[in-house]
Amino acid sequence: MTTTTETATHPLEILFQLQDLLLIARKKSEQKDRIPEHLQHVDAAFREISARRAERQERLKAAEARKKALEGEIADVAEKTKKYQGQLPSVKTNREYGALLNEIDGVKREVRAREDEILALEEQIATLKAEQAEVDATFPEEEARFEEQMAGWREEQAILAVDAERAAKRAAELRAGVDKKMLANFDRIAKARGGIAVVKVMMMASHTAACAGCNLRLRPQLLSDVRLSKEMVHCEGCRRILYWDHRADL
Ligand SMILES: [Zn+2]
Repeated sequence: MTTTTETATHPLEILFQLQDLLLIARKKSEQKDRIPEHLQHVDAAFREISARRAERQERLKAAEARKKALEGEIADVAEKTKKYQGQLPSVKTNREYGALLNEIDGVKREVRAREDEILALEEQIATLKAEQAEVDATFPEEEARFEEQMAGWREEQAILAVDAERAAKRAAELRAGVDKKMLANFDRIAKARGGIAVVKVMMMASHTAACAGCNLRLRPQLLSDVRLSKEMVHCEGCRRILYWDHRADL
């Protein structure tokens, strides 16, 4: 065996490394987004508390907005009443007078209906505020307890995020050095084949080889092409790019 100083990396070797990095980035990122089983109930319970609290706040806000709107309407109606009352002295006939009084009654009824609704809203607001105060009193404690339970996982998540980012960054650096056409081919197959576009050739016996992706045996000519050709050779079964690890030849 002669010592070889040939260090130029085979293009498929680079694609293989790229594939590894992309798979690592994906795996780490998926792990980061998946709450561990033993924390799922903790997370779900806290989510529910938070959602109920937010929903109550929303209802309170809506009730207060409605009350404000009604108060505005009452002010408008009061203006109308004043206008009608101002017209009373200048009324000429009994019929006109009666009609005007009817208008004033109608307006008063409108005011009363709004006042009734405001009273109901005030009760609702008071109840919601009392409930909210009760929840708010214990919420910080519950939140702290939740964060405490999640603390270990948050640390793990941060590490996973860094790992995912690092792998993605190195993958991007590798991509920059790969032939564009080769890269397009790689991406297309990776997308269709669960991220695995380049597969090693496995030797089954001295002259029998198979695709590590789908286990299909390679025809002798294809095996020879994979070992010697500079072109990309695809598996006839799964269309993945076949890769002969030349380090195994040494
Ligand atoms: Zn295959």
